[in-house]
Formats: sequence, C-alpha cells, structure tokens
Amino acid sequence: MKKEKKYWNEKIETMASEKMKALQWKRLKEQLQYNYDNSVYYREQKFHKVGLTPEKIQTFEDFQKIPLRTKDEHRWTQEESLRRYGHPYGLITCAPIEKIIRINSTSGTTGQPTLYTLTQNDINVLNEMHARKYWRCGLRPGNIVLQALSLSMFTGGLPLSDGLQAMGLCVVPVGIEGGTRRVLEFTLLTRPDVLIATPSFGEYLIEQAPKLIDKEANELGIRWFFCAGEPGAGIPALRKKIQEGFGAKVFDHTGGGHAFHGISCDIEPYAGMHFVSPDHCILELISPETKDPIAISNGAVGEMVFTFISWQGGPLMRYALGDLVQIFTEPCQCGWPEMRFKILGRADDMLIVKGVNIYPAAIKGVVGEFMPRTTGVLRIMLDSPGPLVKSLLRIRVEYGAEVMGDDEKQKLIREMTQRMRDQLRVTPSIELVPPHSLPRESGKTSLIEIRET
Ligand SMILES: [Zn+2]
Repeated sequence: MKKEKKYWNEKIETMASEKMKALQWKRLKEQLQYNYDNSVYYREQKFHKVGLTPEKIQTFEDFQKIPLRTKDEHRWTQEESLRRYGHPYGLITCAPIEKIIRINSTSGTTGQPTLYTLTQNDINVLNEMHARKYWRCGLRPGNIVLQALSLSMFTGGLPLSDGLQAMGLCVVPVGIEGGTRRVLEFTLLTRPDVLIATPSFGEYLIEQAPKLIDKEANELGIRWFFCAGEPGAGIPALRKKIQEGFGAKVFDHTGGGHAFHGISCDIEPYAGMHFVSPDHCILELISPETKDPIAISNGAVGEMVFTFISWQGGPLMRYALGDLVQIFTEPCQCGWPEMRFKILGRADDMLIVKGVNIYPAAIKGVVGEFMPRTTGVLRIMLDSPGPLVKSLLRIRVEYGAEVMGDDEKQKLIREMTQRMRDQLRVTPSIELVPPHSLPRESGKTSLIEIRET
C-alpha cells in the first residue's frame, strides 16, 4: 500500500531553508520585473521615486529600499484608479483586466474595503495554500466541513469554499446569516466533522446547542475546529473550552484572499502558527515606530511586511498591514519544519506604559487564562488615544458567573495583576464588572475604550 503523504506539497513544504531562500530570491526578481513592467503606480511610486529599477536590486537590502505600502495607500490607489479609469483596479492590478476572474475583499470594518484582484493562477495558489494547511491537520477527501462564517465575497466566504472544494473536501457553506439555529440544524442534517468559525461563535454554539437542538455540542461529531478571524487556539482557556465543548482539536489559521498563510499545530502549550507559504510570500519584520527592518530571528517582534512572489493579479509588494508578530525559528516539537509566528495584535493598538510596549491582545490572553473566573471579556480604559499611556493602565474585566463574594473578587484581582506583572511587565489597575455588562459587538470588538477627560 502506498504510504499516505504527510504534506500536501512534500517537495516545497519540506524544502531545506537555503534552497527555499534561493527559490524566493529567483521568484522575487521575476516578480519585481513583472510589477515594474505592468504597473505605472509601482514603476513611479515604488521604483523611480527612490531611484530604483529592478536591475539595480541585487541584494535583499536593495529590495528593502522599496517604500512600504500601507492599507491606507491600498485604499487610495483604488480611489485614484476610479477617478482615472472608472474602475478601482487600474493602479494595483498588474495582469490585463480580462485575466482577472475574481475580486476578494477584506471585511473592511472601517472605511472602504480593500480589494484583491486574482487571476486563475492566483486562485490556484490560494487554493493550494488552503490545502497545505488543512491537509497537515489531517483533513482528507471524505471529511465534511461546515463553514459557519460570513459568506459572500469576503475572504472567509466563497474564496474559502472554493479552496476546500479544490482540495477534495465536502463543504457545507451554511454561513451565519441565517442565524444560530440554522447552523445547528444543518449540523444535525449534514453531519460535518469539521467546523470553521470564529472562536466566539464556537463558544456561542456550545452555549446554545442544548437550548436550540436539545443536544450538547460534543454530541455533534465535530472533530476539528478551525478558528477564523480571531485567535482561539492561542488563548489557553478558550482553546480548552472549545476542545472540551465540541470534543475537537482546535487550530488557529490565517490567510484569506492573499498569499500569507499560517496554521497552528496541535502542540500544547500553543506554539504559534507555521508559515506555510514561503514560496509565494516573503515575510519581513520592521520596527512599528521607525519602520526600519528587523532581522528575522527566534523571538523577534515587529510589524509584519509581506511581498507576494509568483502572483499575477494585484501582487502586493512590501505591504505593511499593521499587524505585530513574533517569530520563532527554533524547531517546533510537532515536527513541521518551517518558522512560526504569533500575531500579537495591531501595531497601532500598541500601548506604551512606562516605557514598556503592551499589546491589548496579550492582556486579553492573560484575562482569558482566568476563565471561568472571568468571562474573558475586558476593556482597556484610556483617557486619550495611545500609544502613550500617561497614567496607570486601567482595565475593566467581567468576572465569571460563579464568582460571588468580595473576597473572591479581591483574590481574582490580585492574581490577575500579578500575572500581568510577571508576563507583560505592567502593573495595571483592574476593576471587576458583572458578567455580560460590557457591550459586545458582532464581529471584532475593540479592546480599547477611550474616554477623553
Ligand atoms: Zn508546530
């Protein structure tokens, strides 16, 4: 019998790092020439403006002279193209317009959504990246995947369904638009063994299943839970809650409509996400303050910058999306070979308290460790917008339903304060508030509340 492959693309995914670097450099050179030849915007704004041409880029340091591209600039190029050409693709798209066969979009919580334009080649790349992630976690044709995310053109919608199908999985794209009851009823009807959802929706399903369909979530047959949109596996209490609630393995993953993809492994404690697309995306780190490059080394923290290689539609080049990541280059216990990363939060969410950099997501992680004594929900209360916090860092945390007396509350405050001091080097002032008293929003809720005084 033929031995089953461990990786979707064995050759690429297990390639020695020196060989991978050579492949990246070759593809980068080709991509730079392609971007230069096919986009006026890239040619003028990213090459000529700083006196570069693709031929002048001989080293990686040369490449890093190309100005960064930001999310605001991404939106600006769309608007400018609308003005110039009557459509939003003229400046960012390098392939001829008739080759563009799909537009993906971020969910765009603020302002105009950012668009990704894809050719068949780019869709094939994207689908392979999805396959690499799910294959490693053990999914095979025959598995049934319930996709309980906001559907439509957003990256967790049709583009994801397409990727799952391309790998040979059976997709039930139930979506969340029809409500929780519908998701649960379709679970009973279609018998999925895989669930892709936001971890907060996962928690909600655990809570609602007994009420709505008279079954515990762990009776539904879900064996894999993939967290989308928000971290889940990386927050110990949340991971445990979903593991136990469904009786499933829990994975974090990232990579929507573009070429930067990661998947966490099943190691505990959480080891971050493995970067599975180095042959299609070059990752750099920069300082969030000075924007200078930071070397990729074990433990390094910085703002993530990525560049697509072998991409036709709208290849992003030195794109600084504003996410802070920490890199781990030491081998992972799970045996998967490549470097890993943890997403720490938004670079512009970073707070500086007495000279120490604090990420709201890290605070959420600590509060989450105290579940069920907390609900995991909190707000960081600021007098003025960050990053500089001039006074004490004030945090409101919802205590859990079982926390009763004042003694218990004081003990909880003491322990959380101590944990934050140990782990984050900050001593906050914590105020406990009753469960479910802080507003929730559908989608991603901001951890920061600003009350200007
Ligand atoms: Zn691992």
